[in-house]
Amino acid sequence: MFSYRHGFHAGNHADVLKHVVLVQLLKHLTAKDKPFMAVDTHAGAGAYSLDPGTYAAKNAEYATGISRLWESAENKFPEAIGDYLAQVRAFNPEPALQRYPGSPQLLLQMTRAHDPLRFFELHPTESGVLKEYFRSNGRRVAVRAEDGFANLRSLLPPPSRRALVLIDPSYEDKDDYKKVTATMREALQRFATGVYAVWYPQVRRREPAQLPELLQRMAGDDWLHVSLTVAAPPADGYGLYGSGMFIFNPPWQLAAAMR
Ligand code: SAM
Repeated sequence: MFSYRHGFHAGNHADVLKHVVLVQLLKHLTAKDKPFMAVDTHAGAGAYSLDPGTYAAKNAEYATGISRLWESAENKFPEAIGDYLAQVRAFNPEPALQRYPGSPQLLLQMTRAHDPLRFFELHPTESGVLKEYFRSNGRRVAVRAEDGFANLRSLLPPPSRRALVLIDPSYEDKDDYKKVTATMREALQRFATGVYAVWYPQVRRREPAQLPELLQRMAGDDWLHVSLTVAAPPADGYGLYGSGMFIFNPPWQLAAAMR
């Protein structure tokens, strides 16, 4: 079974990029009243405590991610960063940063009562935590302890014909790169007009370097590729030095906001 636990990485620079994009996508999708389905194929545990003794506090990756932004006023930043920070603050009513909202929590707090949320999480502990997290949310939220790559198809096309799909694997298994392209190919065949956001790591490997181009080839004209590189590629070949998001059918404002 997998050893990856997102708690160790909660709020790091990669989460910042991913969640800045996610907040912008949600902002645009909720600008219209019409419902949409939000799907998170690799959901994690929902939200993460940053208290001493937690996974997140162990390596304190958030110290070079969200913490770098937290101390500053939202309006000091470009709008997209301010919007993201406002969502993290909404989840932290106290002045101190005490917990970090994962993508499930951001999806919950930014959607409406008529927007269904669908989560896949394969790790038995994480899926148990996530089910418990959403226990009081009724039928609007469904958590499935299943493979998100293999089962996304069961939700497409959504009845509302509007959907946001976040594909955020851990890439612990290098086959995840192939699974991302296969999953996207099938998803686009079933529902070509959905908004899909794929996260990938910048690590010194061939697969992530090739992934954006492979995705671009299947995307047609309507796509956006954003990346955030925070360090030089490590000389020893190991470690995350940035990350990227490839978005299919982005709202037209997203390119300018991310720039
Ligand atoms: N999306 C989360 C967020 O932004 O807060 C973080 C998710 S974390 C990067 C990836 C998660 O995918 C891990 O919790 C891992 O257990 C889970 N996972 C790995 N393979 C999976 C699969 N095939 N289907 C569903 N979940 C999977």
